[in-house]
Amino acid sequence: MPDLEAVTARYRMLVGDEYLALIDPADPDDPIRKQALPDVAELLDAPGELRDPIGDRAHEVAPNLVHRYPDRVLFFPTFLCPMYCRYCFRKVALNEAPVRLDRVLPAAVEYVATHPEVREVILSGGDPLMLSDDRLAEVLGAFRTIPSVERLRLHTRVPVTRPSRVTAALAGRLSGFRPLYVVTHYNHPRELSPAARAAVSALVDAGLTVLNQSVLLRGVNDDVETLAALFSGLLRWQVRPYYLHHPDMTVGTAHFRVPISRGLALVRALRGRLTGLAWPTYVLDIPGGGGKVPVDSDFVRPTPRDGVYSLHGPLGGRWTYVDPAVHPDGLDGVPAGATRLED
Ligand SMILES: *Cc1c(COP(=O)(O)O)cnc(C)c1O
Repeated sequence: MPDLEAVTARYRMLVGDEYLALIDPADPDDPIRKQALPDVAELLDAPGELRDPIGDRAHEVAPNLVHRYPDRVLFFPTFLCPMYCRYCFRKVALNEAPVRLDRVLPAAVEYVATHPEVREVILSGGDPLMLSDDRLAEVLGAFRTIPSVERLRLHTRVPVTRPSRVTAALAGRLSGFRPLYVVTHYNHPRELSPAARAAVSALVDAGLTVLNQSVLLRGVNDDVETLAALFSGLLRWQVRPYYLHHPDMTVGTAHFRVPISRGLALVRALRGRLTGLAWPTYVLDIPGGGGKVPVDSDFVRPTPRDGVYSLHGPLGGRWTYVDPAVHPDGLDGVPAGATRLED
């Protein structure tokens, strides 16, 4: 299959046994398979798609450290994952050279220590749970000793993709760094497997607050029944749905894209059905780096044209947004995606 080889030459592929076991081999449209296995559709670079869709690079203040919002930073201790999600918004960054943690950690700690407005350090990646327990404790400990850092966050898909990694021993180590918020990444109720449950229980039983972010993905979870089952299943495990991300304008991901109008209809339908505890905030990260905005709010205003919105950034700025899932080639000379307006 030369085409699939072209895909994996461009974007890493890896799926572990634990996630592979969730795929239904009889179903060609299986929502688990779509997240994990490469597709020739990834070879398309649709108009307006970006290699760095949310502008991480523009806000990189030290190697692997991103400071976009005043009170919090993202740190990437690794770009490795146990599985490379096909829709990943960092699918280009993941192909970079391995992170030399010993080199990047001191500068990141120094930056945070000298910027006391930073109250929160978020470990992301890649997946921070690819580090050994000792290395992870070293990273968390280095930030924890900075007096201005009030809380830590760890963003990980390992409780989904390699749940056996989350042992009681790891959870016990993490609990020493509280307040530490663990943000998992379940997208589909079929990912809520017995092994995943054991991983989440270990975290919850260790006294950690566990939240979840999902990405709204065409053909995976863009229907009310699936989202309702996902969010209520998470609550049953004491995991609070935090964000539902609108899919980013990442290169090679057009086949996952959903119109904003559909996302809004889905989250509004859930409001009538589920407890408020189960409602995540539906967010759009403004393409190019304008920041995250709640979609169901006046940060995202409809215009008289179908599929065209006026965006107001959380840090200022205004954009015209031509929904790429509605107008893939743009509209009236305005390209698909976000076009910044003069202030
Ligand atoms: C998403 C993101 C965060 C976290 O934002 P919250 O809204 O607090 O979850 C922080 N920094 C960067 C650069 C981000 O992209």
